Amino acid sequence: MKETYRCWAEIDRDALRHNAKVVRQRIGSAEMLAVVKANAYGHGLLGVAQTLADDAQLFGVANLEEALALRASLPHPIVILGPATPEERSIIAQRGFIPTISSLEEAQAFDRFGPVAINFKIDTGMGRMGVVENEAREVFKRVAELPNIDIHSVSTHMPVSNEDAKFTRGQLVRFRRIIERIRAEVPGSYRAHVLQSAGTLAFNPPTFEIVRAGIMLYGISPLPEFQKLLKPVMTWKTRIVLIRDMPKGSSISYGRTFITPRKMRIATLSAGYADGYPWHLSNRGAAVLVRGQRCALIGRVTMDLMMIDVSNIDNVQVGDEVVLMGRDGSEEISCVELAEKAGTITWEIITRIGARVRRVYV
Ligand SMILES: *Cc1c(COP(=O)(O)O)cnc(C)c1O
Repeated sequence: MKETYRCWAEIDRDALRHNAKVVRQRIGSAEMLAVVKANAYGHGLLGVAQTLADDAQLFGVANLEEALALRASLPHPIVILGPATPEERSIIAQRGFIPTISSLEEAQAFDRFGPVAINFKIDTGMGRMGVVENEAREVFKRVAELPNIDIHSVSTHMPVSNEDAKFTRGQLVRFRRIIERIRAEVPGSYRAHVLQSAGTLAFNPPTFEIVRAGIMLYGISPLPEFQKLLKPVMTWKTRIVLIRDMPKGSSISYGRTFITPRKMRIATLSAGYADGYPWHLSNRGAAVLVRGQRCALIGRVTMDLMMIDVSNIDNVQVGDEVVLMGRDGSEEISCVELAEKAGTITWEIITRIGARVRRVYV
């Protein structure tokens, strides 16, 4: 069947388990919350979650819809990391998902549908969700008094964990101080969590009781010095669907941004920006791998097709596999390389890989 795919992503389950072990080694006895939002960062929600079922103690998703999709196949606690809409609250409570709460009002609204276990979020600098830091203790006390609310955990999020170590260290100290005070004022078995991948790699300890591992599970390090610990999970592939010999002076693709400087052998690939390959990689020095060798992407990426220079590849054939991201022999196109050339971040590259791209578990 694989032979018929035009554009697909091979997901290496062993690599996924390897990366989970790396997380485990770094967090001691803390629980691992495997972040599988956005279709497990483009790697396929259920395939990834099932592979990690023994390694992860909890799962994290962005919203109710993702939680429902995950619940069908796994019994683990599921934390909804994003804010719930008012309409979603009753179902979240009924289904036993753990919503993330940013205010007393939100907690009160959930209390009406309770009992419900919640993740109490504190904003220590992310500016996206959570109770602002200087009101956190007071709001926590009031939330803890609500009859149908059970506090599962208290958390915060780090905005510069891979960019500003000084701010991040200060943030960790401040969060720890808040947690200690809250624990003194409102005893309970709730757990604390802060660290995402960069934090788990670089600011460890402290780990707190839960860590939220995302991109590192997929084998991509947000900090280059830790990349060697991890194994990339996805190899993104397509196929050559045409090979044509073009005379010198031929224009290639929309905009005619590339004109062949000499006679060239050009292959057309069955992948484009509709598959998630960034249009912004057009004319940015991007390459793909054919038979283990780098071939330059030429001209603009189109919706379903893109062109590469195969003039120097011996024996190249229609139907040949092409690696858009991943390793082939000794060559590799890393997610970091694609992200840098496209002017974006690794998270965006993998989460945008399209629905048309088949996920194949190997
Ligand atoms: C997405 C997300 C994570 C995972 O972040 P990575 O950098 O991918 O590890 C952790 N915590 C929260 C709140 C998130 O939204």
